[in-house]
Formats: sequence, structure tokens, C-alpha cells
Amino acid sequence: MSNSTATLYAAQVKIYPSYQSGFFRKIRWSVLFFLLGIYYLIPFIRWERGGGLPNQAVLFDLPNRKFYLFDIVVWPQEIFLLTFLLILMAVGLFFMTSLAGRVFCGYMCFQTVWTDLFLAVERLFEGSRNRRMKLDREGWSLGKGLRKAGKHLAWLMIGAATGGAFVFYFADAPTLLGRYLDGSASFAAWFTLIFLTLTTYVMAGFAREQVCIYMCPYARFQGAMFDQDTLVIAYDEQRGEPRQANRRQRSDGVPGHCIDCGACVRVCPTGIDIRDGQQYQCITCAACIDACDAVMDRMKLPRGLVRYTSLRELAGLPTRLLRPRVAVYGAILLLMAGGIAWNLATQAPVDLNVLRARKPLYITRSDGSIQNNYTVRVLNMTSRPQHYALTAEGLDHAHLTVAASSNGGLNVEPGEALPFTVYLAQAAGSGQPGPQPITFHLRATDPAGGSDVYQSVFMRP
Ligand code: SF4
Ligand code: SF4
Repeated sequence: MSNSTATLYAAQVKIYPSYQSGFFRKIRWSVLFFLLGIYYLIPFIRWERGGGLPNQAVLFDLPNRKFYLFDIVVWPQEIFLLTFLLILMAVGLFFMTSLAGRVFCGYMCFQTVWTDLFLAVERLFEGSRNRRMKLDREGWSLGKGLRKAGKHLAWLMIGAATGGAFVFYFADAPTLLGRYLDGSASFAAWFTLIFLTLTTYVMAGFAREQVCIYMCPYARFQGAMFDQDTLVIAYDEQRGEPRQANRRQRSDGVPGHCIDCGACVRVCPTGIDIRDGQQYQCITCAACIDACDAVMDRMKLPRGLVRYTSLRELAGLPTRLLRPRVAVYGAILLLMAGGIAWNLATQAPVDLNVLRARKPLYITRSDGSIQNNYTVRVLNMTSRPQHYALTAEGLDHAHLTVAASSNGGLNVEPGEALPFTVYLAQAAGSGQPGPQPITFHLRATDPAGGSDVYQSVFMRP
């Protein structure tokens, strides 16, 4: 028996990706600035709603369980819409993946976007790939210390801006910014800011490709959405092989177009060689396409040795965009988006809820009439104060009274849900014994305030 032990742990090998300009790099810069611009600026967009409602265009008002999205207000009883929205986003991701592979990972995922930004900062302070590698190898000096300190400070500032922007979605952004600046923000606000600053700093500054390779569950199951027609980034082996290290020295036969320069490997943020075939580590950032296209240009060879293609196309067959899988994901996506849009478009301005008192089931009054008590809850979902009229239908010779409320009637402020006690009495000698079905009707005196109905029962001896 051998005494030797083997470790399954492999230390992270630091990757120093080269910077590569090109067509896809321009697209990625554009997407990066667009997404970061949206993320950082949206909390500061103002949106007048009136009626004392918040004037922040996008606000997740957790204490009141309301979500404001420009003119759309999602109320607590519509919280299921957020669940549907999350499912919609997941189906959207499936649809995008079946059509264009991991295009989300390469261009839109926050891990990719922030890592790209952190890499740009790293290049700014520490220079090109070779300079960065040399700097890490050499001993500490004042110059090295200043470069490293500048980089980490800039990373922490980006992390703080990222964490801060996130918190601004949950409170009035300008007010909270002022509180951060004068130090009066709440413990929860400070904790979230510091937590997100540090996670951004660690994930984008250090963990980088490890998140995509080992932590992201999507990287593991996205293969299930792939088929032979899915758009992937691939090396055209037929055209590239046999590789040649120096094209000019080769004289026999038709040379392969890959000159084995390694440019596609040096730019890869996950440190893989696209020429080894499809690998789950590939986030389809297309950096290797830009790198190889630049090499092909210099060699006066056609571009596209590494390109967006499909496995079917590489086998000499045309790529089919419309396939059952894409159609099914697309149809589910459309149905869900349509359902959410319809729900929001037909959003009721008022919600009525009625709870009948069970103890006692009914009261026999001194004049012989029978009385039932109810708690009526009215939610005003408009941006103005509303006054409502309540009636009960389905009961002969009945009289409805609203108990004296603190605001003098069925008056509800915008966004408020108020309970009212209601007495419904039926005159002596009227009606049938046992439970009687009745319908409560609530109507706002202002037509924009809307109306609602609630089915209930009236109990008799
Ligand atoms: S960049 Fe192109 S030519 Fe150079 S090694 Fe990669 S595939 Fe071959
Ligand atoms: S193989 Fe190419 S597309 Fe895939 S991660 Fe590396 S550079 Fe990006």
C-alpha cells in the first residue's frame, strides 16, 4: 500500500487576459456602458405621481410592500406579478440561449460586465498583459505599491458605487445619498452598502472566471438548451488544421490557416483554448474572434477562422434558426409577457375585501330586526384621495350603516388600505331562515376611483 496522498484541491492560476480591440469588443463596450448607465442612473429619475406617492421612477418600497415602476404600481395583493416576472426572465434566458448560446454570459451578465470594468482599471494602473505579469513577479517597490494601491482603491470605489446604487432602488435615492454623505444613514443601509462593496470587489477583482466556472449554476445546465443549431463560438478545424507555427517556412501541400500564434488563448478571460472544442468554461465573450480576425487580417487570410457558427454549419449544413425548441420557448415567453401586460393594463383602481364577524353569527335587535357585522377593507390604488359609497344587494328590507370612522366615512388616501366596521340589518319578519347570499358593491364618487364587488352571506336564525 502506498503512503502517497493526492490532493483534489487545485490552486487558482491567475489569468492575465490581453486586451483586444475589434468589432465584438466595441459591442461589449457599448453594452457595458449602456447597462451600467441604466443601473447607476435609474434610481435618480424622478416621476411625479401625486397624492403623496413617492416621486422616484423605480422604487421597491419594502416596508409598504409596493413596487413602483414609472406609471405602474404593483400592490401587495399583486405581488404574484413579480414571481411571474422572474419566471418570464428565466424563460427569456432559455429562449436566448437556445437561439444564440451563452450570449447573456458574454455580454450582459453582471459578473462579466463588472469583471470587464475591473480589468480596464487594472490595465490603467498596471499596463498591458506582459507588464502586469512582470509586475506580479518582481519584488515590492514604491512604484509597485502605488500602482497596486491605486487599482484597489479604484476597485473599492466602483464597488461602493455599485452597492450604493443597489440600495438606492429601495429608498428615495437623493435623500439616502445625503444621509450617506452626512453619516446619518441607517445601519441596514450601511450594512448593505459595505456588503455589496466587498462582494463586488472580491467577485470582479479576484474571483472573476472562477465565478463562471465553479459558482454559476447556469453554466452547468445551459448545455441542456443547446442543440446542433445553437449559435456558438467555435474554431473552424477544417480550415485551421494542420496548424503551423510559422507559415512562411511551410512548403508542402495546403497549409492550415491557424498559425498557432496563441492570440486567441491570451485574450480569453477564462483561460481556455477555443481550438480544443466546445467547453463549458467558454462564456462566448467573442474576444478570441476579435483576436483571430486581427491575425487573419495581418496574414491576408479571410476572417472567421474563429467565429459565431453552429455545430451543424461546421458540419457543412445550414443553421436552422426556427426549431421546435425555439418556437416553444418563444411561445411561452409571448404568452407570459402578454399575461403580465394584460394584468397591468386592466389593473383595478380599488380593491374591496369583506370579512363577516362570526361571534356572534347574528344579533337580534330590540325591534326584532336581525343584524350582521362585517369588517370591510378598502384599498385605494389611485393617486388621489377617494370617497366611496357602499351598498349591499340581495337582501330585502335591509339597512347598511358604516360605523363612525376616524376620517368621517369611507374616505381612503392614495395607497392606503383602511378597515371599516359595517352593520347590515334586515327588518323583522323579512327574509328566509339560514344564510342568505349577498353582494357588497363599492363605488368611488370620482369615476376614476373605480368600483369593486364582494360576495358574502347574511346569517339569519
Ligand atoms: S488566434 Fe487564430 S491563428 Fe492564432 S492560434 Fe488562435 S486560432 Fe490560430
Ligand atoms: S474561448 Fe473565446 S469566447 Fe470563449 S471565453 Fe474564451 S475568449 Fe471568450
